[in-house]
Amino acid sequence: MSDPVVIIGTGLAGYNLAREFRKLDSETPLLLITADDGRSYSKPMLSTGFAKSKDADGLCMAEPGAMAEQLDAQVWTHTRVTGIDPGHKRLWIGEEAVSYRDLVLAWGAEVIRVPIEGEARDELFTVNDLEGYGRFRLAVQGKRRVLILGAGLIGCEFANDLSLGGLEVDLVAPCEQLMPALLPAEAAAAVRGGLESLGVRFHLGPVLSRLEYAEDGLEAHLSDGQVIACDAVISAVGLRPRTDLAAAAGLAINRGIMVDRELRASHANIYALGDCAEVDGLNLLYVMPLMACARALAKTLSGTPGGVVYGAMPVTVKTPACPLIVSPPPRGTQGSWTIEGSGADIKALCHDPSGALLGYALTGAAVQEKLVLNRQLPPLLP
Ligand SMILES: Cc1cc2nc3c(=O)[nH]c(=O)nc-3n(C[C@H](O)[C@H](O)[C@H](O)COP(=O)(O)OP(=O)(O)OC[C@H]3O[C@@H](n4cnc5c(N)ncnc54)[C@H](O)[C@@H]3O)c2cc1C
Repeated sequence: MSDPVVIIGTGLAGYNLAREFRKLDSETPLLLITADDGRSYSKPMLSTGFAKSKDADGLCMAEPGAMAEQLDAQVWTHTRVTGIDPGHKRLWIGEEAVSYRDLVLAWGAEVIRVPIEGEARDELFTVNDLEGYGRFRLAVQGKRRVLILGAGLIGCEFANDLSLGGLEVDLVAPCEQLMPALLPAEAAAAVRGGLESLGVRFHLGPVLSRLEYAEDGLEAHLSDGQVIACDAVISAVGLRPRTDLAAAAGLAINRGIMVDRELRASHANIYALGDCAEVDGLNLLYVMPLMACARALAKTLSGTPGGVVYGAMPVTVKTPACPLIVSPPPRGTQGSWTIEGSGADIKALCHDPSGALLGYALTGAAVQEKLVLNRQLPPLLP
């Protein structure tokens, strides 16, 4: 039998690519390898599951066996790839070598871990996959108080979801406003107001420096001297594309694994997409770009190469306490923000010097304007 197309990773990038590939090629053997349990799920649901009372099983859309059948593929679960040998077109799983016709890296991004001290420092949860969600959910069963680290998009979504799910939430982050990389201050204040109306308490400025066991749960010691009593801590301070194995194999790396518009990495027959990939200079950790890449890469792998195109890609942030849609200005552009509205309803627009719209942040009632504005946004990869 001929060597298979091998996809490493069964997240949204890996499974969607496999689906798109099978639409175009029903013959070539296909092998998916994943370090996790291989269950198919939609990662964005991890930050809306508490309010919907969903456990990990409830968020699972298909077991790996069903996926293998649907995709006419082999799916190897709980199998960690440990090395790539591009010269011989094979990869390593420990001592075992697996040959490939083409290799696709869809192995995502890993959570950044913050260094903290204290006896309870290992009691820090991260939720970047279904298994992590399941562990965290079990840990807070019957508990009341959760501390979230990080005021980025994911930290804010968890704050909203856990509050709606009945937990008391404190959020700690070393910044002056929510989502500082994404939002102008007025829009951030609107989201903060919405989350505070749910009862979320913000501690912006300090970091968590020490976590200790207390008689009744945990004690979080912040760098400004505050002590917060809680039952569990969830860290959402950011993600870093997985690049180590690719770098060790000699592939070109920047923030992510560098690929061109056809998703080709710097060595022949190796491709990347999803959170681990930097596509023509853009490493976007969202679903829309990976879906566009999956369609383009399926064509390349089935013999009709076509470059990926990104239109505008606004992101709907799942903070229903204050609806938020944001489309950050494309990299390298120079623009200035104008702010309209007040309170929960902010329309923040970023224009270039010629008056062309580069990006926006809409909160509250202003989100209704997204369709009109989307038509004016520039494409991210024309
Ligand atoms: C809580 C949360 C909410 C989000 N909400 C949104 C949203 O609303 N909208 C949006 O657009 N985006 C959202 N995102 C981002 C989006 O979900 C991700 O961009 C996307 O799911 C990434 O998919 P992926 O397949 O690239 O990576 P992953 O889903 O991380 O998959 C990586 C796969 O690689 C495997 N793997 C890793 N290393 C190895 C190895 N060495 N060997 C074998 N297998 C390996 C893993 O086991 C896994 O199967 C959210 C992210 C999070 C965490």
